[in-house]
Amino acid sequence: MVRAQVYRVDRNDPDPRAVSHAAEVIRRGGLVAFPTETVYGLGADALNPGAVERVFKAKGRPPDNPLIIHVASMEELYTIGRDIDWRAEELAKRFWPGPLTLVVKKSPIVPKITVAGLDTAAVRMPRHKVALRLIEESERPIAAPSANKSGRPSPTLAEHVVADLGDEVDLVLDSGPTDIGVESTVLDITSEKPVILRPGGVSREEIEAVVGVVEVHPSALGVLPHGEDAPRSPGMKYRHYAPAAKLVVVEGELEEVRHAVQELIDLLRRRGIRVGVLGSEGYSYRADVLRDLGSRSNPGGAARLLFRYLREMDDEGVEVIVAEGWRDEKGIALAIKNRLRKASGGVVLEAEQLIKALRTSPTGVYIEVMGT
Ligand code: AMP
Ligand code: MG
Repeated sequence: MVRAQVYRVDRNDPDPRAVSHAAEVIRRGGLVAFPTETVYGLGADALNPGAVERVFKAKGRPPDNPLIIHVASMEELYTIGRDIDWRAEELAKRFWPGPLTLVVKKSPIVPKITVAGLDTAAVRMPRHKVALRLIEESERPIAAPSANKSGRPSPTLAEHVVADLGDEVDLVLDSGPTDIGVESTVLDITSEKPVILRPGGVSREEIEAVVGVVEVHPSALGVLPHGEDAPRSPGMKYRHYAPAAKLVVVEGELEEVRHAVQELIDLLRRRGIRVGVLGSEGYSYRADVLRDLGSRSNPGGAARLLFRYLREMDDEGVEVIVAEGWRDEKGIALAIKNRLRKASGGVVLEAEQLIKALRTSPTGVYIEVMGT
């Protein structure tokens, strides 16, 4: 039995009664799933440790993974954070409301559990009207990780939230599909040079235009390609955003990628595996389930569909998903590359090598993909 109430709310003109009921749930320490412009969030009063504990429990989220605190005004940057410098101010002025999360030193009012014991806090002002109204009416900052079970693809539809957390959440505000489809960019500005911890809705180039050069944390590039000396298990430990199916990412020059992807699909299907393919415009694969992320020149469109398609592959009983990799790192393409690599748990293959391996040792490739 699904416990959650679901309210349909207009994204541009949310019903004030729905919002005020949801705000009441937040004030009482309950859990409200709500749309943002990135993905759906699982919200609780960020300053109420009991409510935040429920978020961790509902998601099955490891207690050492801190939550993003969502605010509805610039002033709250100063109540949640401290020692706010010009970079934080300029970035917030330029990108808020919007998909940029700023990691700043935390103020004492933020409970330990919300920030997983760190002395920093991640803060963001979302652009979605429903999210903003909810935060304003609650009169609380709202801690909200993505509203999925820990490790699963983030929800871009309210149906995804109900599928994962329908029994745990008190209320779901449903405004249809989210605009961006991948999470916010997380930028740490507590060090001298800002560092992107997670690529997302605001690009590196856009940030650099405001504060100069920023670094990209190695983990933000996703797990490294699978080489001879790259052990499988540590990568698996960091599997995130992941469908139930195994996911293999094939990277390289596009023509070669497509050739390698089709050959890999053929091998797996010959051995009785149900295979889905995550491709892009301009090539028709033969596979059991097909999903096309659209034109390569429109990475924004691909980002919007990515998590939905991973979930649909599971719904269609796919055992292995073979995905065309994204090599490009410009704009939101970096976020797509990161999510695909992380979702694969490190099974990232180079097209050229894969084509060779399929010739010389198909069984070796099969074992590499399926495990032993
Ligand atoms: P999610 O809420 O599921 O979208 O994930 C939030 C992301 O922000 C995770 O990758 C967290 O590790 C990261 N995050 C939240 N707070 C902090 C913080 N204080 N320092 C560094 N990263 C953070
Ligand atoms: Mg998440």
